Amino acid sequence: MDLAKNLARVRPLLGNATLVAATKYVGTDEIAQLAALGVLDIGENKADAYLEKRAALQNLPIRWHFIGHLQSNKAKGVVETIDVLHSLDSLKLAAEIQKRRAVPLACFVEVNISGEPAKNGVEPEALADFVRELAKYDKIQVIGLMGMAADTPDEPRIEASFRLLARLREQIQRERLPHAPCEFLSMGMSGDFKIALRCGATHVRLGSILFRNEA
Ligand SMILES: *Cc1c(COP(=O)(O)O)cnc(C)c1O
Repeated sequence: MDLAKNLARVRPLLGNATLVAATKYVGTDEIAQLAALGVLDIGENKADAYLEKRAALQNLPIRWHFIGHLQSNKAKGVVETIDVLHSLDSLKLAAEIQKRRAVPLACFVEVNISGEPAKNGVEPEALADFVRELAKYDKIQVIGLMGMAADTPDEPRIEASFRLLARLREQIQRERLPHAPCEFLSMGMSGDFKIALRCGATHVRLGSILFRNEA
């Protein structure tokens, strides 16, 4: 794996979007390598792995993003220490954040844009009420929306999912809620980030494209 080379190929495609490296595939050595290459936004998706890696890398100026589903019983230690949560999707988790944070946590609300009922995330129809409800939790700042498209080769369908998320962000922004400026869109993974960028992604979460072996 040539991380520097993979990164050099991806970076020019990203414009102003923030690259959040999804590091579940790799260990702390590769994360340190990424940091040395200037990638300081690191996303983990499992509580235990996050806690281990964070402890091992505490001397690096990494911004830790939690990008996976976070069960409220796994929140301890995680919500206190992360910089950004991409997967706020329940009031139960919101209450956990409220209880544990000293200062407000920057959160993306995860929306189920896949059209698949079993997926994580708030349903699009329930989003506006959900975000309004979050006003009661002064330790939560809704900085944006996160969504994952279905895993499908159907590009128009993927694009429709991302356009939906972009529209939902505009709806929330129009409400001008002090706790929900909702300026960012976290969408796009290795297989679909180019589509996501066309649709206005401000944060892409990339894993396999960075860590694959050279063809
Ligand atoms: C693994 C992961 C990614 C990145 O996926 P790739 O397809 O490897 O780029 C993005 N978001 C979440 C939540 C992930 O768990």
